[in-house]
Amino acid sequence: MLRCRNCGSGVPAQPDNLLTICDHCGTLYPSTELAGIPVHIVPSIDEAAIRKAVIERMAVDKQMKNVRIDIESSSGVYVPMFVSRASVSGWWKGYRNERRNKQTVKIWKDGTIDSTGDFPVLARKHAHEFGLAGLGRVVLDAEPVPIGSVVWEDSALPVLSVDMTGEQVDDAVEDNLIDLIGERVKAGDGLTAITEFDTEVSIASRLLLLYPLWTVTYRYRGGSYRVAVGGGRGVVLSAMEPMFYLQRIMRLFVGIGAVGASGGLFYLGCLLLPMMTDDDGAGVIIGIGAAVLACSWAAIATAGRLVASVNVENIGESQGWL
Ligand SMILES: [Zn+2]
Repeated sequence: MLRCRNCGSGVPAQPDNLLTICDHCGTLYPSTELAGIPVHIVPSIDEAAIRKAVIERMAVDKQMKNVRIDIESSSGVYVPMFVSRASVSGWWKGYRNERRNKQTVKIWKDGTIDSTGDFPVLARKHAHEFGLAGLGRVVLDAEPVPIGSVVWEDSALPVLSVDMTGEQVDDAVEDNLIDLIGERVKAGDGLTAITEFDTEVSIASRLLLLYPLWTVTYRYRGGSYRVAVGGGRGVVLSAMEPMFYLQRIMRLFVGIGAVGASGGLFYLGCLLLPMMTDDDGAGVIIGIGAAVLACSWAAIATAGRLVASVNVENIGESQGWL
């Protein structure tokens, strides 16, 4: 416990937390590893606005629009992220397979890479907060401000601890960025494979960003379900939804169908085998074996979903690589 030099309240200080913040007044206590890194914040909108965003999002949801939900609780935290301004330059060579006159030919291509952007990385080695993966989608849309310029009391929330240093983050940025750029080149030029890839990453600056993430729970027929909301503008990131009766029935039929198909194929295999020559037989056994496995797998997968009481709907795709 340390005593805040600004407001005098007690602040719990964990030894592995590199950035302690006074919950009461927002005064920062950075460790030496983070000294000099600017801390910015996207202030959270208030709790009532977060709850309203959930109600409004559910009202236009395909499955939930006719369902009355009661919000049970809501709580928010600030998620710490490093946002690095990084540049990548270099070149690549690769090919695309194309069918021409019933033959596959390799079309070779090459190009250069020169791009600069902001890349967010979680400032925590382990994080399991519901909806976290969706944050990549909204973080870069936000307009962060230096933490000293906000009235902390207006948007105060607990801040998750930081346990990564700037150097560790730079390594993560380099690795992820090279992967990401590779994927983009591949997708952009429709390549089958990249054979040569020579790039250099340079990181110009980084800051620590605190982004608000809310978890709202609602009740529906005795069950409790969670919704994750980005607190900058109240964007629903991910929602657990009850499985409705019709869906369960559909899955039950798929499951029964798969079990039936699996048994049928096995029976067919037993009938066919005695009629085959040895060479034909081996192919048929492998084919039927694979089909039986596929049907069994479908049955098992469906059974698993049949007993699940919730659907998790991830709203939108994450564009970052948070
Ligand atoms: Zn304080």
